[in-house]
Amino acid sequence: MKLHLPVVSVYTVPTDAPEADGTLAWNSTTVVIAEVTAGDATGTGWTYGPAAVGDFLRDHLAPLVEGREALDIPAAHEAMVRAIRNAGRPGIAACAISALDIALWDLKARLLELPLARLLGSCREQVPVYGSGGFTTYHDTHLAAQLNGWVHGQHIPRVKIKIGEDRGRATRRDISRVRAARQVIGPEAELYVDANGAYTRKQAIRVGRALAEHDVAWFEEPVSSDDLTGLRLIRDTLPCDVTAGEYGYDLPYFARMITAGAVDCLQIDATRCGGLTEFLRAAALAQAHGLEVSAHCAPHAHAAAAAALPNLRHIEWFHDHVRVEDMFFDGALDPRGGTITPTQGVGHGLTLRAEEVQEFRVA
Ligand SMILES: [Mg+2]
Repeated sequence: MKLHLPVVSVYTVPTDAPEADGTLAWNSTTVVIAEVTAGDATGTGWTYGPAAVGDFLRDHLAPLVEGREALDIPAAHEAMVRAIRNAGRPGIAACAISALDIALWDLKARLLELPLARLLGSCREQVPVYGSGGFTTYHDTHLAAQLNGWVHGQHIPRVKIKIGEDRGRATRRDISRVRAARQVIGPEAELYVDANGAYTRKQAIRVGRALAEHDVAWFEEPVSSDDLTGLRLIRDTLPCDVTAGEYGYDLPYFARMITAGAVDCLQIDATRCGGLTEFLRAAALAQAHGLEVSAHCAPHAHAAAAAALPNLRHIEWFHDHVRVEDMFFDGALDPRGGTITPTQGVGHGLTLRAEEVQEFRVA
């Protein structure tokens, strides 16, 4: 069964409120969608990134996979990886490979008339999620409403908020927002924070000691994820778990992060690292080092593969991407009770609502 030329579309969706974390602010989310057909089945994959990802995919990757055997995903994946050598892998090229790889896995499952979770093989029926948002731009009442909705509305017993506001220049407000978050969610729910690399090493340790008073279990990117020595230092000093990995665009990145002893839980993003093919490899690498993994963002892109991982901790139920994926796809999953159950329909079970989302299309 031969692959047809993949088709690319790009959409930009305004956020429902201004959003920022410790080191970046934004007011829209761009999703790049790849569709690939073989026989009478079509697979759909996607990534979040600039519209240039779509151009790169259309111009450099789509012609490369056309005519290849649809079931041989490693061959198509390797051909893409080799072809982008001079363009450079991290960033745009890796996101483009990821979207197409996710589409190829969906297509393979549909050609075999299987749920993707069955094709990959599951080791759990349900996949734990954590609510993720809590942007630094939110007013206190907005933050409280969002956290309340996850913990008391949908009964998701794990939530994460952003700290490190203004590149680490507002630590008093950071701590007071964490205190407020703990009050809203109560003593039982797990509370996580993400500084997006905003702090210096010593600053992160001082903040981390204050966080411990509010029983914060997860401190994501306390310093830049490029500072592996700093992450290790903080990991060895504080009681909470230190986590990172969202900017991993290839397997050697994860190998360096793991062998530096930088994290307690490795975060992996299939829409960046090279699709589900590389996601599964990175998770195996973590398992070899006794680490659990957590899927970063794009929850519906990860659900089936997450169910296949023995060393999965959870996947991130990220506000922006949940909103986009609910709008764009029929078949979106329900996180009530704190878990999702990967679909029993064919493929990843999602169908693009191309007509309904036309107003957001930019390419
Ligand atoms: Mg993060």
